[in-house]
Amino acid sequence: MIRTVLGDISKDELGFTLAHEHLILDLDWVRKDGVSFIQDVNEVIPEIAMAQKQGIEAVFEVSTIDMKRDVKKLKEISERTGLKIVCSTGYYLAEYHPESLNEATPEEIAEVYIKELTEGIDGTDIRAGLIAEIASSPDEFVGNEKKILEAAAIASVKTSFAVSTHTGRPNAAETVEILLKGGVDPDKIIIGHQDLIDDHDYHLSLLRYGVNIAFDTCGKVAYMPDETRAMNALKLVEAGYEDHLLLSNDISRRTYFTSFGKQGYLAVMGSVVPLMREYGISEETIRKFLKDNPARIVNNSRI
Ligand SMILES: [Zn+2]
Repeated sequence: MIRTVLGDISKDELGFTLAHEHLILDLDWVRKDGVSFIQDVNEVIPEIAMAQKQGIEAVFEVSTIDMKRDVKKLKEISERTGLKIVCSTGYYLAEYHPESLNEATPEEIAEVYIKELTEGIDGTDIRAGLIAEIASSPDEFVGNEKKILEAAAIASVKTSFAVSTHTGRPNAAETVEILLKGGVDPDKIIIGHQDLIDDHDYHLSLLRYGVNIAFDTCGKVAYMPDETRAMNALKLVEAGYEDHLLLSNDISRRTYFTSFGKQGYLAVMGSVVPLMREYGISEETIRKFLKDNPARIVNNSRI
């Protein structure tokens, strides 16, 4: 079964899924740029409705405890739109971490994750269905970042829920190795933000561990053209890895919304998928990226 904010559903019910999104979050308390937040349910819902018109049926909402995740708002969004939402437990980059992590052991942090996966979050009975987005800083692991990852491994092994990460190239192999050393099933690992690295051989080096990677910043063309994302996806399909790729937009501030003239949650279906078709990727394979792969990875045979 797959654990959503409205309860557990069967794997077949999930549907077309964006695998790394934020519907409600606050990064502004660290970034202080005045735009890095999404807080208003009424502002998010029309953006979601447009993605649903494109065929999107579900999201993995990867906002962490320290991104000021708000599961009550996520539940309201799911009830009002019909979007299936898998919410997350986890911690983000070091500068967001609460001081309490300094003294905590990986086992103690894992207890926090496990409670949120199995009992409830913030005094509700809403439970997480994913351990995400477990982050590391761009160049190296900083502060407690290794500890939150080791904790993710412990929680995943104990509960069989998947782990999704925020990872740059310098830490990617070590991230995978820490999780595998901790005993995590490689198919329960999603290494995020890998479309920001235009290097097919590097992508293969990660996939050879048996893990999954996410091309989850679709539409952020200031960082990488969508043509490159689609072309690198094609190369992975040709190399036989179509069962290990996921797609998303990673909208982390309201100024990415269509109401600000941007693509919001629409870039995967509106920009990258059409390019994939143009480059010859089949409908069946696109359905794997958006439906079969996400459902298989977060499906938990123990619930
Ligand atoms: Zn993110």
